[in-house]
Amino acid sequence: MGGILSMKTVKDLVQAGLVNDGAGLEAVAQKYAVGITPAVVALIDRDDPNDPMARQFVPSAAELVQMPDERVDPIGDLTHSPVEGIVHRYPDRVLLKAVHVCPVYCRFCFRREMVGPQGLGTLTPGQMDAAVDYIASHSEIWEVILTGGDPLVLSPRRLRDMMVRLAGIEHIKIVRFHTRVPVVEPERVDAAMIDALTASGKTTYLAVHANHPREFTPEARAAMARMHAGGLALISQSVLLKGVNDDVETLAALMQRFVENRVQPYYLHHPDLAPGTSHFRVSIADGQALVAGLRGRISGLCQPTYVLDIPGGHGKADIRTAAISGGDGCFTVRDWQGGEHAYPPK
Ligand SMILES: *Cc1c(COP(=O)(O)O)cnc(C)c1O
Ligand code: SF4
Repeated sequence: MGGILSMKTVKDLVQAGLVNDGAGLEAVAQKYAVGITPAVVALIDRDDPNDPMARQFVPSAAELVQMPDERVDPIGDLTHSPVEGIVHRYPDRVLLKAVHVCPVYCRFCFRREMVGPQGLGTLTPGQMDAAVDYIASHSEIWEVILTGGDPLVLSPRRLRDMMVRLAGIEHIKIVRFHTRVPVVEPERVDAAMIDALTASGKTTYLAVHANHPREFTPEARAAMARMHAGGLALISQSVLLKGVNDDVETLAALMQRFVENRVQPYYLHHPDLAPGTSHFRVSIADGQALVAGLRGRISGLCQPTYVLDIPGGHGKADIRTAAISGGDGCFTVRDWQGGEHAYPPK
């Protein structure tokens, strides 16, 4: 892959032969960040108009279509943010969003209004101090979840700084990272990064985001192996996406690839109501049928939990068995406190 640079503009994509109608996509690129790494460019099949890799990363005019029930903050991060960079929705764990940039920009991203060069940016040193103070002063917090953006865009030095600061907080036992880096920029996962991630002496979990079995290239597999060997516990995270992985064959292969690479299947997310993403959405009924189809077909080790982030900030719900409430295709989902919510929201 030597010499290939990341693609960040529509012009880059046209020059690489990844899109034809560049002019039509400028409006999309102005609204939502574009980013495709060399590792992902190498995965795209230019001869397949329905290529699941292109679908995830190459912008499309369909993103300009906005549906009435889509929202800027689909999972309600902003309603539970006590200080900049922290989301505290459940008592025992917080999200710490240190950065809002990613090596790639997924076209279905649930935080697409907050990430990218024009997004919320990186926490300033002062904001980081305030976020760490918040964590230190809330002894009920057991776990810190670094997400963003993609926290593994930070340099090993900054990662180490952060881990060392968390190491000083007695009540924090687990640090978890959510990242797409092992797949989209596997060469970044080097000894310096792994040393930094384990510098705190806390138990460190890493949730690897991948949505299609083809993402498990030899380079990505090697990155996962380095992380596992370095002492990181690996779990999976995928989004159920129309035209990418919404068939039993693909989902089963995806979950098997995770397990083969010592990544324990964790969450399969129902796609969120992010603006301009309706072309990726499947119904809960279809999602349930797909997930039920995995049972019996592949090992129990390979079964993810199918979850919905309830719009409005009510948290995640396991929707493997959520029941349809009426004849209108509307589901009733229950949040962790027992509250009931209609989905799609009315
Ligand atoms: C998703 C999420 C978590 C993590 O939830 P788990 O079920 O522990 O994976 C924590 N806090 C917030 C605000 C979240 O959105
Ligand atoms: S890597 Fe995650 S945060 Fe970044 S664009 Fe993709 S889904 Fe969004």
